[in-house]
Amino acid sequence: MFENLSDRLGGVFDRLTKQGALTEDDVTAAMREVRTALLEADVSLPVARSFVKSVTGKATGASVTKSVTPGQQVVKIVHDELIKVLQGEDAPEALRIDNPPAPILMVGLQGSGKTTTTAKLAKRLKDREKKRVLMASLDTNRPAAMEQLAILGTQIGVDTLPIVKGESAVQIAKRAKQQASLGGYDVYMLDTAGRLHIDQVLMDEVQAVRDVANPRETLLVVDGLTGQDAVNVATEFDEKVGVSGVVLTRMDGDGRGGAALSMRAVTGKPIRFVGLGEKMDALEGFDAQRIAGRILG
Ligand code: GDP
Repeated sequence: MFENLSDRLGGVFDRLTKQGALTEDDVTAAMREVRTALLEADVSLPVARSFVKSVTGKATGASVTKSVTPGQQVVKIVHDELIKVLQGEDAPEALRIDNPPAPILMVGLQGSGKTTTTAKLAKRLKDREKKRVLMASLDTNRPAAMEQLAILGTQIGVDTLPIVKGESAVQIAKRAKQQASLGGYDVYMLDTAGRLHIDQVLMDEVQAVRDVANPRETLLVVDGLTGQDAVNVATEFDEKVGVSGVVLTRMDGDGRGGAALSMRAVTGKPIRFVGLGEKMDALEGFDAQRIAGRILG
């Protein structure tokens, strides 16, 4: 099991409390524990380093005359900084899906949970925002993936674009757009093909689809348990196709959510949703407080 930050800092805290002042050495000792806690939570090393650096500055400068103990003060500073990084300053409140039909492009690697997330998000938009949603699978290489989306659609009561054999991804995207306009849909979601690794063919296809659909939101779905890999995937997708937001899946697993901090710090992209299981309701809006708590243990 993980040791949480307060436990880790226990020894250091005792000393800080006794001394009643934050000396540079105290802060250094505390920050060593903070860094270890971040790394154990799967935050990448460069992000952990720069995070600790900015927190060190704040902690060293902090006055200890307030009613809290110095130790509590360190925890608060760390917590506040986590929230600041996780939340970002420019995160939009809601998805930009006014002006119907609004296209949402779903991108990501195969196995990341993209199709499941597409359906979960469609259900959420339907249930909470009363949107009429049309989903289309563009995974022409995997008929099973197309059928999976159709099955999920039936299950959640969201329409899917009828499957026509032999069409290219771009043709399907055009048909989805047309169908969404004619059918009076508020939103249409394009579930693009994924591959096991990023390659040129994948990126060319996603770019071509993007150019046709001109998406209002391009949501990247990444496996939250893959840590640094998730960040690398996000960086590449953002460079090649432009990403407006991230969905971290498998946050119901044992991981401590450090990927969220790395993701936000490195890519600057807002995390919009987290996947918390396989069920269609297991999608939540991103909550920085909750993730911060989880990272700190
Ligand atoms: P795709 O290849 O990216 O479209 O991936 P799928 O949507 O087919 O998902 C792959 C597997 O991951 C499926 O078994 C999903 O049920 C599962 N999955 C997706 N999201 C989550 C999640 O948030 N938590 C868990 N535990 N499983 C998930």
